[in-house]
Amino acid sequence: MMAKYVYVFGADATEGSAEMRDLLGGKGANLADMARLGIPVPPGFTITTEVCAYYYAHGRQYPPELASQVEAALGVVEKATGRRFGDPENPLLVSIRSGARRSMPGMMETVLNVGLTEQTLRGLIAQTGNERFAYDAYRRLVMMYSDVVMEKGAGIEPAEGKGIRRILDARLAALKARRGYGSDVELTASDLKALVARFKKTVRERLGQPFPEDPWDQLWGAIGAVFASWMGKRAVEYRRIERIPDDWGTAVNVQAMVFGNMGDDSATGVAFTRNPATGENAFYGEYLINAQGEDVVAGIRTPAPLNAHSRNEQSRHLPTLEEVMPAAYRELVGIRDKLERRYRDMQDIEFTIERRKLYMLQCRTGKRTGVAAVRMAVDMLDEGLIDARTAVRRVDPLQLVELLLPRLDPQAESKATPIATGLPAGPGGAVGRAVFTAHDAVEWASRGEKVILVREETSPEDVDGMHKAQAVLTSKGGMTSHAALVARGWGKCCIVGCGDIEIGRDGRSFRARGGQVVKEGDWISLNGTSGRVYVGQLPLVPADPEGNPFYVRLMKLADGFRKLHVRTNADTPKDAAQAIAFGAEGIGLFRTEHMFYGEGSEEPLFLLRKVIMSSTEEERRRALDELFPYVKADVKATLAVMDGRPVTIRLLDPPLHEFVPHDRAKLARLAEELGITMPKLRKRVEALRETNPMLGHRGVRLGITYPEITEMQIRAIFEAAGELLASGKNPIPEVMIPVTSTVRELDHQKAIFDRVRDEVRSQLGLAELPCLFGTMIEIPRAALRGGDIAATAEFFSFGTNDLTQMTFGFSRDDIGGFLPDYLRSGILPADPFQTIDQDGVGELIALGIARGRATRPELEVGICGEHGGDPESVMFCHRVGMDYVSCSPFRVPIARLAAAHAALAGPEEEGN
Ligand code: PEP
Ligand code: MG
Repeated sequence: MMAKYVYVFGADATEGSAEMRDLLGGKGANLADMARLGIPVPPGFTITTEVCAYYYAHGRQYPPELASQVEAALGVVEKATGRRFGDPENPLLVSIRSGARRSMPGMMETVLNVGLTEQTLRGLIAQTGNERFAYDAYRRLVMMYSDVVMEKGAGIEPAEGKGIRRILDARLAALKARRGYGSDVELTASDLKALVARFKKTVRERLGQPFPEDPWDQLWGAIGAVFASWMGKRAVEYRRIERIPDDWGTAVNVQAMVFGNMGDDSATGVAFTRNPATGENAFYGEYLINAQGEDVVAGIRTPAPLNAHSRNEQSRHLPTLEEVMPAAYRELVGIRDKLERRYRDMQDIEFTIERRKLYMLQCRTGKRTGVAAVRMAVDMLDEGLIDARTAVRRVDPLQLVELLLPRLDPQAESKATPIATGLPAGPGGAVGRAVFTAHDAVEWASRGEKVILVREETSPEDVDGMHKAQAVLTSKGGMTSHAALVARGWGKCCIVGCGDIEIGRDGRSFRARGGQVVKEGDWISLNGTSGRVYVGQLPLVPADPEGNPFYVRLMKLADGFRKLHVRTNADTPKDAAQAIAFGAEGIGLFRTEHMFYGEGSEEPLFLLRKVIMSSTEEERRRALDELFPYVKADVKATLAVMDGRPVTIRLLDPPLHEFVPHDRAKLARLAEELGITMPKLRKRVEALRETNPMLGHRGVRLGITYPEITEMQIRAIFEAAGELLASGKNPIPEVMIPVTSTVRELDHQKAIFDRVRDEVRSQLGLAELPCLFGTMIEIPRAALRGGDIAATAEFFSFGTNDLTQMTFGFSRDDIGGFLPDYLRSGILPADPFQTIDQDGVGELIALGIARGRATRPELEVGICGEHGGDPESVMFCHRVGMDYVSCSPFRVPIARLAAAHAALAGPEEEGN
């Protein structure tokens, strides 16, 4: 049977369906589905993603059957519309649009009005009786086609600002200025006629080819350009950020044109079935009278609100669609309800009204802020649209970041005066230095600067810079502009359509309405929830997710599904309390050494240095006795906060030289306390230096050479726990040995553990002093020898930071030097220090668990490397049967939700 590459939709002959998303792309599948639902969709056809794959596998050639299938499908569309492609009397015009499996907003190309030539133009004028309209359509085609097909599609890369689109735009602007027109609508038929002639001349001069006057050349040119745009720079960049595989390919949709620019009884718009910023169950959108779809998204004119709910500061004075075209609006509301019932999710739709008749051009699952995602999931559950499992799976764990990240301090904000207000497109607060190009944003951010990208409007070329910036601020564009869509998708703070600012001619500054000038590098602060812009650095305060009832409910549902427990990595009572507030069920990693850094660490650090610099056991024991009360107090404070929850306390891990002072005064005090001379002290410091400290004298190796260090720490833990126990509390300590590679190391330390426990128990007169003894698994050998290590260890905690370092042989501190090259060239799919390398490191983990549990079936297993807060890694931890993940306090809610997703994932998703 001949392969089928083309599927017709609309025209009573719809061949595709919603289930065929992989083959038809999201747009094609949904157009087919809408047509099946009886929603008015202009007829057309979809060329499948298989053709895209074929095209790239065969040196940009199409399968031989394609041409005849396209011709046949176009015949169906001609019949349905009663028009003919290329017919000078009654021409059919079509749009050519991309459509991948997952939406990539604005990343690929579109060409409208294909089929319009000098010949068919006359027919279009006759059909519509509107010469101005026909010439306007023609000039749009020339602009788009020359840009998308003749320049980008041909791989021509003009210098910055010298692209054909820019040149033609400038011509158009110059003409309007000469004529004194405020908007495109004022251009007359003869203006446009003259403009088209000039455009075509310019195209021939600049691109060395005439604008094609054969409609079939136009059609195939546009189809080719859409396929080519799949491998365009910005699409590739976007896929890298979103982790969309390159081999998915795009489909191409060819659809009969309908026109929103046929006069004041025509319009075009973009809408969301619910508010994408807040999640409120209210129809939300924007439209423009007498315009084509590109005008709304490009932000050239301020769009008007769909209804009262959609009004904002910029559009408050404009009439709503509900007021201007009540019948079309009512029909749209009916479609909105139908779509929500059908897809059971918020949809992002594009519509056109041609002479009062409504058409749907697109519908897809809409991007939303994290706040909105949570609210929609819970609301839809209450409305009976979805069940609890779906509600939990609806929210991407990383979307919660937005609810957990800081916002501008409301107190400081109430005292500050905003210099401008725009549309709140992405919530939260952000503080950064103003930069004015995406390129600068990337460059400054790579130097560790926090930047806010300020643009008139953004385009798909800016995505990398937007990604690297703390926030995005645009002076133009609406809530459906490119900047708003992209930022919303990422949960990034974003303000758009900020008409109160004007970007300077130098492109390196902006002036606010009140006259304040902000130059490149100046600090600004943004409140993305209210749309306010401030000069300077306003303080940020933590978010308050628990104050959001939708969040609280969603997390409760998630907790009901998950199997994994979620602990936190914390080593202060403050962090521990924060983590409990975020839902942590214990501490999976308490790094003892953290008491020697930061606030209040002066004295214990000095005493630790004394320990390190001691040269005899006796000297060291004296210093350890002095240090002991600090360690005990530190452990006790956190055990007290975590009452009733397990706390895994890890013994000293870093190489000792990390604690050696460098400044003279501190060295001098040490020498004095130890009663030795400076040269002698320097000699001892020198002796601690290691060539490769990460693989050196650290972790359990310290406890082997200096058992008294282990002993002091274990005694501190038992006394702290014992005293809490005696006072009626319920401490649950677990002692963890780091950097283990052989069970003999553990046996050595376990003997100290057992002896000290007995001593403290009798000293405090306690019958029991429960405490698990376990180890980190962070050296490949330890994973391999999990079987014998579990004979001594009662729990394993995978330290995937070091395990990744030692499995790959990548230094965790130096990977930044070459990782970008590895990612760019696809050698690594992701940073293995962020997302577990399931094939390699993951295999060691699975093997370590299996061998460990073969020896000790009740072995408790967790993870405490950074990966414990990464959703993909959490899914993996669930699959390999861990008991818990442990991550930083702010990641706890993300891990909780990811653990629920893991538990709800069907077998078909498990392997992905
Ligand atoms: C690890 O190695 O994964 C770990 C948690 O320990 P640290 O990061 O302290 O080396
Ligand atoms: Mg480690």
